Amino acid sequence: MDFTLLEFVPDAMVIVDQADGRIVHVNCVAEELFGYAREELIGQPVEVLLPSRYREAHRGHREGYGAAPRTRPMGLGLDLAGLRKGGDEFPAEIGLSPLEAEGGRYAITAIRDVGERRKLEERARLYRQAQEEVRRRDEFLSIASHELRTPVAALQLQLQILHRVAEQAQSPLPRQLVDKVEGLERQTRRLTVLVNELLDVSRMRLGRLELRLEEMDLADLAREAVRQLEAELGRSGSRIAVRAEVPASGRWDRLRLEQVITNLLVNAAKFGEGRPIAVTVSAADGLARLTVADQGIGIPAEHQERIFGRFERAASAEHYGGLGLGLYIAREIVEAHGGRIRLASSPGLGSTFTVELPTTPAAVQAGSRGPRVSGNGSGMPEA
Ligand code: ADP
Repeated sequence: MDFTLLEFVPDAMVIVDQADGRIVHVNCVAEELFGYAREELIGQPVEVLLPSRYREAHRGHREGYGAAPRTRPMGLGLDLAGLRKGGDEFPAEIGLSPLEAEGGRYAITAIRDVGERRKLEERARLYRQAQEEVRRRDEFLSIASHELRTPVAALQLQLQILHRVAEQAQSPLPRQLVDKVEGLERQTRRLTVLVNELLDVSRMRLGRLELRLEEMDLADLAREAVRQLEAELGRSGSRIAVRAEVPASGRWDRLRLEQVITNLLVNAAKFGEGRPIAVTVSAADGLARLTVADQGIGIPAEHQERIFGRFERAASAEHYGGLGLGLYIAREIVEAHGGRIRLASSPGLGSTFTVELPTTPAAVQAGSRGPRVSGNGSGMPEA
């Protein structure tokens, strides 16, 4: 028989005499796949190419076929395994056809190593599974933080009432008790912030961040945020100087930007080592710019990008608390407005965070994240 054509087939081909089950020919792809030279295989029972656990059954089938000759393909895309010279196994897909030639009956077998393909398929499956798990976790986080908000808010309210009652009591309460109530209030405020951070982050991950745009002044907002945080920031020992003389107006989401400024201020106080903090607001060329600068521990260059990621922190958890979400949320909010947030920092000298926001709605619409925007009569479309 002339087997020249088989040299051009991309699969490994093995031809077996159905009378005795011995190999009469293999093509070059089969030589390569199984690791034998052609001469080594010719005359061998075809089972040498199979792992031992399949051999017995294969021999049985083969003898069955031999007794009742077939004219149609005997098997296509069979899931089997091949055995290379040296004993390595590989997953193989096998197609099997009868061949009658020169008075003899043969089986012609195409073998394909599907190891690589299986690996790729498995990797793709794991990737899809991981994505689904992440999505489910975000969904869970969203529900859990939403559920937590109600009792935490109730707790906070009760403590505020208790505080007020204590202040208005006829006979003054023991100082220790008042201190404890204040401490509890502080802790619940902190709890509220953490729960809100979790809620925000899960919303952002699920693409549910919505901006409520209104005409506002960033300078006003910065002064207001500093005033509201004065007591809390004061405890860190840092003095805060605000330089925001000229208005910096634009159409932005007030509550969201307040959240950005608050995050930056709380960090500046937390990592500022009690040294002064400077806040500035300015506006030029269609951009409003806010900076928060501290003179604290600073951030090494290799961490400066990473800390904007979710749950990413650079300082030791032992000394500084936090979930590592504040800067992630800040960046999401700023970018949803079409702006950006930058960091300049040197370890030991301090950090300066700069937020730049386009003042016009057009720039907001062009924002890279395509936020959902709504406003009161602003004419901004719901994306
Ligand atoms: P958190 O403060 O809750 O850990 P953030 O996302 O706000 O989360 O900050 C991430 C990390 O970035 C912090 O853990 C800290 O390592 C670093 N960082 C942020 N702000 C400052 C700052 N002003 N000075 C030094 N390090 C900072």
